[in-house]
Amino acid sequence: MMNLTLTAQQARVEAERCLQCFDAPCEQACPTHIKIPKFISMIRNGNIIGAAEITKTSNALANVCGKICPEEIFCQSVCTRGKQDSPIQIRELHFFATQEEVKKGFSKTKPFPTLNKKVAVVGAGPSGLGCAFELSKYGYLVDVFDKGKPGGVPRNSIPAFRLADKELESDTKFLSKYFSLKKKTVDGKAFEQIQKLYNATFLAVGLGKDRPIGIPGEKMKGVLPVLQFLESAKANPKRMKLGKRVVIVGGGNVSLDAAATAKRLGAESVILVYRRSEKEMRVWKAELEEARKQGVEIRFLINPVAVVGKKKVEGVKCRHTKLRKQKDKSGRPIPVEVKGSEFIIDANNIIIAIGQSIAADWLEGVEREKGYIKVDENFRTSVDKIFAGGDMIAGEGTIVQSVAQGKHAAQAIHEFLSGKQEAASGI
Ligand SMILES: Cc1cc2nc3c(=O)[nH]c(=O)nc-3n(C[C@H](O)[C@H](O)[C@H](O)COP(=O)(O)OP(=O)(O)OC[C@H]3O[C@@H](n4cnc5c(N)ncnc54)[C@H](O)[C@@H]3O)c2cc1C
Ligand code: SF4
Repeated sequence: MMNLTLTAQQARVEAERCLQCFDAPCEQACPTHIKIPKFISMIRNGNIIGAAEITKTSNALANVCGKICPEEIFCQSVCTRGKQDSPIQIRELHFFATQEEVKKGFSKTKPFPTLNKKVAVVGAGPSGLGCAFELSKYGYLVDVFDKGKPGGVPRNSIPAFRLADKELESDTKFLSKYFSLKKKTVDGKAFEQIQKLYNATFLAVGLGKDRPIGIPGEKMKGVLPVLQFLESAKANPKRMKLGKRVVIVGGGNVSLDAAATAKRLGAESVILVYRRSEKEMRVWKAELEEARKQGVEIRFLINPVAVVGKKKVEGVKCRHTKLRKQKDKSGRPIPVEVKGSEFIIDANNIIIAIGQSIAADWLEGVEREKGYIKVDENFRTSVDKIFAGGDMIAGEGTIVQSVAQGKHAAQAIHEFLSGKQEAASGI
């Protein structure tokens, strides 16, 4: 995922490389099924605004995905041109088109139909926004509730050096014309009210709670849960004070964001420890290379066992691990600690980045499976008229998958409320 912004000339040259495949495997591989060959041919013909419209019709967060969608695991991974020389830079091309539209001012969309039914969306992250936009294209009156400004994780946690506020707002400003955004923290009482007032509800509150690691000393001053750290660093970078030596615990993309952020905040030494080997890390390779380039040291086969310090963190006690042949439910070999292999890594801060869970006790009446909200193939939960999507049903995913789930849930809500199986209008 290179963060490259194409010039008009580069975009045209890149668009000309597209083979315009009849079966368009890229389009199938994009979770929101953007009409990729069509928008690329428009760029080739100089109709940049038309290309932006095509992209936005399919993907409510077209700018955000244009900037940080991991295209190497989606559209680009199946690009036919990749078999000849290199795949088309699909993400960069749609970012170029949508950003050109932002510079020129949004073009007018055609009026959507009006239906006399109301749908509530709880959570204005990628999934909630994707659902709300699609529902408004069908003609529903949609109220979107969020405890903060719209954008979810892309606004609150993804570091500004990867996604600037203005890039996110290119999407949220456009979207906010189509539904009503209501600033409200939904709790049990509010959820009951919502169920009475709306014909259907879509839940998309994501995974807002950091998972604790469960080692002695975890509550000590200087230990930071990763979302709390990323959110504070993004909201108030000047007030975020880190020590010279920072250890990050975890082996996913979120831990790499934390490591890169710690480096940018001035930490002299940033060491990421992971209990398996590099092969088992579930990260986008480009992000891993980027972290290394920035000087993050990554140590494998290490498990933290205790925080060391009196009143505040002085280090982390670890053990070496080795991998068993046997695999756990994630499909990866189980790490086991090597007896007597204890050692201490000095640290002033430890950032725990081992995953997130749902932060919504008020949802106790809605059935869960493996900790996530259980839905059927139509995104219906165990409670009548309540649908759900995004990370809270599937675990940690990506922005484009969350938007796609919101969109598909909107189609299911429309079928539920109207009895009709039909696509929403374009824009
Ligand atoms: C640090 C980090 C970096 C990432 N980087 C990338 C990336 O580069 N590319 C990519 O594709 N994906 C990335 N992801 C994954 C991606 O951000 C998520 O998959 C996606 O945001 C999930 O969307 P969502 O709508 O399900 O939930 P969220 O984005 O979590 O949005 C949930 C929304 O619900 C609101 N909410 C929660 N509780 C309540 C309540 N009680 N009342 C009202 N509102 C509430 C929250 O304020 C929030 O706005 C990253 C994730 C993290 C954590
Ligand atoms: S949203 Fe992601 S998967 Fe879809 S076309 Fe854009 S870069 Fe590819």
